[in-house]
Amino acid sequence: MATKKVAAKKAVVKKATVKKATPQKTSGKKTTTKRTVAKKKSAASWTSRSLMPAADVRTAFERWRELNPHPTTELEYTSPFELLVAVVLSAQATDVGVNKATRRLYPVANTPQAIAALGVEKLKPYIATIGLFNTKAANVIALCERLIAEHDGEVPRDRAALEALPGVGRKTANVVLNTAFGEPTMAVDTHIFRVSNRTGIAPGKTVLAVEQALLKRVPAEFLIDAHHWLILHGRYTCIARKPACGRCPIRDLCRFPDKTPDGET
Ligand code: SF4
Repeated sequence: MATKKVAAKKAVVKKATVKKATPQKTSGKKTTTKRTVAKKKSAASWTSRSLMPAADVRTAFERWRELNPHPTTELEYTSPFELLVAVVLSAQATDVGVNKATRRLYPVANTPQAIAALGVEKLKPYIATIGLFNTKAANVIALCERLIAEHDGEVPRDRAALEALPGVGRKTANVVLNTAFGEPTMAVDTHIFRVSNRTGIAPGKTVLAVEQALLKRVPAEFLIDAHHWLILHGRYTCIARKPACGRCPIRDLCRFPDKTPDGET
């Protein structure tokens, strides 16, 4: 009897461990401490735990394409350089907030040379409404100087070269490669991570795992635009706190077990 109880207890702990899906950059070791299990239970509230069949993945993207045939970023830009700076500024900030700042900055300076000439202190007032603007100002100036010194003032179409720039990580490089240069990359942000897991389109425990799963599971014809559809879906429909399942165009395909009722948003 006692043995049965211990076995049942272990099974509960194991089940909670399987539910884990948080946007961590490292794979992380499995632990079974009470704190970790509680965290896993919370994350599990938006985890579908089941894979969407390939045919349904195709149908989902067909529907998104029909609703929005030419999706793009909500950041405003007119050149790869403007996009790169906007994406660097957008970390932990909204696209709307970044657009307000770049509408002031770009008419004055929209090349690496012009922004580098401003220097950190003169750049700050343009971006002061954006979070972390002190760090971002320093990064943008260092980024401009590096572009001038190493890339003739051009934005490189190369992941390693992009990721070597100050303030540029894998996600920013993916956005620039996809949106400025038309490469089929997946810039997995918090929205894409959540939608991929909830729907079962590309479940994964880390952003890198989701990125790789999306590249495998999204049919080739949708790869260029997929990340925009997923971001927009996460931002406006499959919202973090309460998904608007009642007006979701892929509700019948989605594997999320805790959908909100019809009509409720
Ligand atoms: S039905 Fe739609 S809104 Fe609801 S969880 Fe699934 S994808 Fe998100």
